Amino acid sequence: MPPPIRPDITEPCRVRFAPSPTGSLHVGGARTALFNWLIARKTGGTFVLRMEDTDRERSTPESEAEILRVLRWLGLGWDEGPFRQSERGDVYRDAIRRLREAGAVYAAYETADELEAQREEARRDKRAPVVRCKREYTEAELAALTAEGRQPVWRFAVSVEGETVIEDMVRGTVTFDHGNIEDFVVARSDDTPTYNLAAAVDDADMEISHVLRGEDHISNTPKQMLVIRALGLEPPKYAHIPLILGPDKKRLSKRHGAASVEEFEADGFLPEPFVNSLALLGWSYDDKTERFTMDELVQAFSVARISKGGAVFDQRKTEVMHGRYLRMMDPQAFEDALVAYLTNTGFIAAHGGAEAEARVRRSAKAVKGKISKLSEYHTLAGWMFGDYQLEPDAWEKITVDVKHAIQVIGGGLGRLEALPEWELQAIKDALQDQLHILGENARDFLEPQRIAVTGRTVSTGVYESIELCGRDEAISRYRSLLGRLAEIWTR
Ligand code: GLU
Repeated sequence: MPPPIRPDITEPCRVRFAPSPTGSLHVGGARTALFNWLIARKTGGTFVLRMEDTDRERSTPESEAEILRVLRWLGLGWDEGPFRQSERGDVYRDAIRRLREAGAVYAAYETADELEAQREEARRDKRAPVVRCKREYTEAELAALTAEGRQPVWRFAVSVEGETVIEDMVRGTVTFDHGNIEDFVVARSDDTPTYNLAAAVDDADMEISHVLRGEDHISNTPKQMLVIRALGLEPPKYAHIPLILGPDKKRLSKRHGAASVEEFEADGFLPEPFVNSLALLGWSYDDKTERFTMDELVQAFSVARISKGGAVFDQRKTEVMHGRYLRMMDPQAFEDALVAYLTNTGFIAAHGGAEAEARVRRSAKAVKGKISKLSEYHTLAGWMFGDYQLEPDAWEKITVDVKHAIQVIGGGLGRLEALPEWELQAIKDALQDQLHILGENARDFLEPQRIAVTGRTVSTGVYESIELCGRDEAISRYRSLLGRLAEIWTR
């Protein structure tokens, strides 16, 4: 085991993944879920799932269902939850009441315009544009505000003197000067909690021991720590994991390719190698080992080896790693995964069900080792489904020299028709023999055979394709193409 570079979690921990169900699960969220899951499994701890759905307008049940489905697909099962913040209103109301009683929060009546004017003034004076509202009102002032119909929000009374220090497990000591933290809102006028309140209260209430989350949340952390301390509780430990960047070192987005896990699933990635790639986004075992099974990840993972930066997601590299995984897979497991994928995408049903499945199974060996994701099956073996059709580029290629095409395809057909047995090695021997007789170079001879049987320029191997096509169908395709070629030759 390589030496840790920072403190680690070794005791059974309680960690959580707290997505907002406002869309699909992206690579970044999946990586956060994975790191939390791994450390929970590694330490014999507990992985809590919490839906941060306080934004009623953007949160949807469909998004929640999709996140749960994708987590299951990734193999990241949870031990507790899913808890929903939308169902925990009482817990937050009680926390706000306690904060009020402790004098930690105050009712703020400022309008949006007044707040903006305050920020503007701060900017003019070159101060941090943080909001501080009027904390004390006389009875008469309050009566006037109420008469005006103003509804207060609840803001945390940050004591300007002082600082909050995060001993971050990844980033080290990070100090926040309270002068730069505004009196943040903890509850809206309708009493609903803000993210910072709900997350802080939940982390405390759910006895979360360690918060592992994206670095983009680090400025929320001192606010959440202030809330937890004001409730008389001890904040969890924090580990902020590096943002995920694209190869151009810009924050990962759609521009870099598929960003949601669902898209990778649809594109024919399998969960284990995909999780393997996610694990390497900001974590490494020893700077060289790259391949891990799920079990190996659980053994190898440590918070101590999460890096401060350098989490680059490279779609191409992910595909290459995935291709290597597919090549090394047990043949039966690969075949089953392929069938499962093509069943889930509806391809098998759309092409006749059981019969199509049998074809997929027969062709699995011919594509294994040649594809880096399961969707590429269509590129190589799509010709096996549906009617025989010559694709335009194949026709173009074959008609560059019609006389030559007729000669090599005719030669191939003759040998295939004479085969006593339709068997891969026999097909190969016969065609290679013909190739030598004609004195052709291999490509000029074999490409037309491929086109004859598949109608395409890209497919499974030539001999495999002929074998997979079956004797009658292959011969009929050869004849049909020869017929079309003869027609233009004699014209
Ligand atoms: N709900 C937040 C998000 O989806 C996560 C907050 C957290 O982990 O504390 O970004």
